[in-house]
Amino acid sequence: MIPGGRLVVLGKQGAGKGTQCVRLSHHYVIPHISTGDMLRGEQKAGTELGLEAQRYMDSGELIPDEVVLKMVAQRLDQDDTRTRGFVLDGFPRTVAQAEGLDELLSPASLDLPVNIVVPTPLVLRRLASRRVCEDCAAIYSTVSPPRVAWICDACGGEVIHREDDTEAAIHRRLDLYEQQTQPLITWYRRAGKLVSISGVGSPEAVSDRLIAAVDDHRSASGGFGAPLRVSGGLSPRSDPDEGAGYESDPDEGAGYESDPEERHG
Ligand code: ADP
Ligand code: ZN
Repeated sequence: MIPGGRLVVLGKQGAGKGTQCVRLSHHYVIPHISTGDMLRGEQKAGTELGLEAQRYMDSGELIPDEVVLKMVAQRLDQDDTRTRGFVLDGFPRTVAQAEGLDELLSPASLDLPVNIVVPTPLVLRRLASRRVCEDCAAIYSTVSPPRVAWICDACGGEVIHREDDTEAAIHRRLDLYEQQTQPLITWYRRAGKLVSISGVGSPEAVSDRLIAAVDDHRSASGGFGAPLRVSGGLSPRSDPDEGAGYESDPDEGAGYESDPEERHG
């Protein structure tokens, strides 16, 4: 049996969280929980929560902590998350949300928060070209579009430019990230758990780094409750070419290079 895990993926908009969380979700067989996707789903369904969320989301503001926490609490209470764990995407985004999450999980706890680090000029380029499926949230870009023009390869849904991927809303979200999410990274780092990896490079290169970091941490801490599935010997420390790919308490300057693919968000 593949052991599950309780993971959080952090990183600014366009760092590739969505793409990478889908990959982690498949690799570890754990549900991918994206608060952004959940909120967009509520909007689409026209629920009260969706209506309330809309005005914040369109302008790139954060939904109030207690609203998001309540939504996440319900999701974490489902059978799949109880048995397998989860990979959380876009949550927590504030220290208050992280504290709320700890309470929800208690007496268990998070296994690992992973921070995907990408320089801002690169995320700005990625977000400007990002396109998403309205129905299943699959991520494309103008550089890497679906096979048939703007019809999702996975589900046949319409692939669109998100309303909050406009320049003004992107800048607002990046500002909020600095103000509210950066302190969260410091908070996790102080708690001694945070692992950071570079998000520069192809989606495959980044997910290899991520899985290696998670696996490495898992064996170092004696497993997240169960032994680890070996992922093809991808230890960044044993591969000199992968060098600065990840460190357990890095300086945010490490591991940047030009992005050969620049196609995901
Ligand atoms: P991005 O990471 O590109 O901002 P998301 O899909 O994660 O995109 O989120 C879109 C919007 O949904 C956010 O701008 C915010 O309004 C809302 N949202 C998502 N997750 C949270 C959260 N944890 N707390 C508050 N608001 C959230
Ligand atoms: Zn789709």
